[in-house]
Amino acid sequence: MPQLHAAAAVLLLAAAEALSTTTTPRAITGAWPQAFPAKDLCSNCGLCKTDVGIASVTDSCAFIGDGMARAEGLEERVHGRSRAYDASNLDEAYFGVHDEILLARGNVGGAQWTGVATGIALAWLEAGEVDAVVVAGSSEDGFGSPEPVLCRTKEDVLRGRRVKPSLCPSLAILDQVRDDASIKRLLFCGVGCSVQALRGINKGDPVKALNLDELYVLGTHCVDNSPTPEAAKKFVSTLPGVGEERADDVLAYEFMADFRVHARLRGSDEEETVKPAYMTLPPSIGVPSIAPSCFSCFDYTNGLADVVVGYMGAPFDAKRDEMTTAPLMVTVRNERGRRMLDTAVASGRVEILQRGGVGGRELPSTGDRRSITVKTVQGDSMVKTLLEPDFVAGNQGAPPFVANILADVIARTLPTGLEFARYSIDYHYIRNQLFCDDRMGTRATRHVPSYARAICEPYAEDVEALKNPPPPEPSPLWYLVFGGRFQR
Ligand SMILES: Cc1cc2nc3c(=O)[nH]c(=O)nc-3n(C[C@H](O)[C@H](O)[C@H](O)COP(=O)(O)OP(=O)(O)OC[C@H]3O[C@@H](n4cnc5c(N)ncnc54)[C@H](O)[C@@H]3O)c2cc1C
Ligand code: SF4
Ligand code: SF4
Repeated sequence: MPQLHAAAAVLLLAAAEALSTTTTPRAITGAWPQAFPAKDLCSNCGLCKTDVGIASVTDSCAFIGDGMARAEGLEERVHGRSRAYDASNLDEAYFGVHDEILLARGNVGGAQWTGVATGIALAWLEAGEVDAVVVAGSSEDGFGSPEPVLCRTKEDVLRGRRVKPSLCPSLAILDQVRDDASIKRLLFCGVGCSVQALRGINKGDPVKALNLDELYVLGTHCVDNSPTPEAAKKFVSTLPGVGEERADDVLAYEFMADFRVHARLRGSDEEETVKPAYMTLPPSIGVPSIAPSCFSCFDYTNGLADVVVGYMGAPFDAKRDEMTTAPLMVTVRNERGRRMLDTAVASGRVEILQRGGVGGRELPSTGDRRSITVKTVQGDSMVKTLLEPDFVAGNQGAPPFVANILADVIARTLPTGLEFARYSIDYHYIRNQLFCDDRMGTRATRHVPSYARAICEPYAEDVEALKNPPPPEPSPLWYLVFGGRFQR
């Protein structure tokens, strides 16, 4: 009889094992994006490339189910409270939960701007506050595939410098983090969609799932990322002054407040910068250069990070400033973010230029975004592609001479500082709301966060007019010929 019991136990164990191997979700290894749950809306955040992450995908992915709206429910857990805003004060609808918005400058060479992000990460690691840091590195210089780097040293962290201009599977490293007993305190650096997915793991308790004691998150703003390095390279090839022949020399580029793309290129001795006007770009390059996920993204300001670095709300003087000298905007969301920034300042890696208080209300800000936002949306070839089935975007940009004059004129009419940030957010959220309505149908109501709807609300009539333009006014010739005979 004891042998019988033993045999039954072995059988039971084998059955349990078989069951567990068939029910335990496993990392996806198939082709991107087809094999991923969010399909072509997948931002390749890397969560599904891990065993620990895939188990939470339905509760964490920013592009399935409640999608981007789900993050609002995590704010209280992460920051201790959710966003406070109403129609008369939209500061936190725009910039998320925060204690303060300020201007800062880093002193890390070879960074995207001045290295505030890398400076904070370095200082936090060097102060011994974390055992490891995750940054977005690259398989090679230039347009190599972005990939997560698990950093233990200063040299590792420096690999995160500069924006790798395409989707990075930053979370693909999470199994390694979970299985490494020496990592108990982690700093994760990433963009909004990956931060949302990370925070959502294990029903909002990633610390436990990853066997950590502490998790710190340093975010950057992020918008309009390219789906692949090839798409990003194709985009820069269309820039006058770059072209196909110099595309591989591009080290960094940004869409700037002077209505020009600033591209920094590897020169024979030192870096060179070209600044073609936006209008020199062929309109047809817009849609293929932006991943579908980024057309459905409403987390430009990275609402679930502890502290966030970006440039859109920092003043930029086109006559005096370069990316490598200009101020950056830092949003401190909570006490953890405050400690990280203070440590970077104390170590001398980051300098605070101006404190802006809640909403950045004490920072420079001029102009009124409203009418320029409407004009931008109305004239945007990507919006037209969405709204007008017969619209075909042109494949020729304006001649540089004309485009330069236009850029100078337009730049003078644009808002600056924090109002420029609101303008940029308004344009992107209106455009992306249109994209989601078109692509997701009724699921758009679940996906779009309520703060984004509050931002788009004041433009409701303008957007409706775009969707349903009034019939064209009859021309004077029409009246001459028909004399108003067909009027009702
Ligand atoms: C795709 C993208 C688009 C952006 N667009 C805007 C914008 O329109 N407006 C705005 O205000 N700010 C934008 N930012 C943020 C802006 O570029 C930051 O202000 C800047 O990176 C910080 O400058 P820095 O010199 O401090 O960065 P660095 O010190 O050079 O550090 C760069 C940081 O970015 C991370 N990173 C690099 N590439 C990627 C990637 N592909 N995915 C995820 N993380 C990455 C690195 O891990 C590192 O932490 C964008 C960032 C990204 C990644
Ligand atoms: S966005 Fe991230 S979580 Fe969502 S399907 Fe893609 S890899 Fe998975
Ligand atoms: S724009 Fe949004 S979806 Fe696209 S990479 Fe950035 S955070 Fe992710």
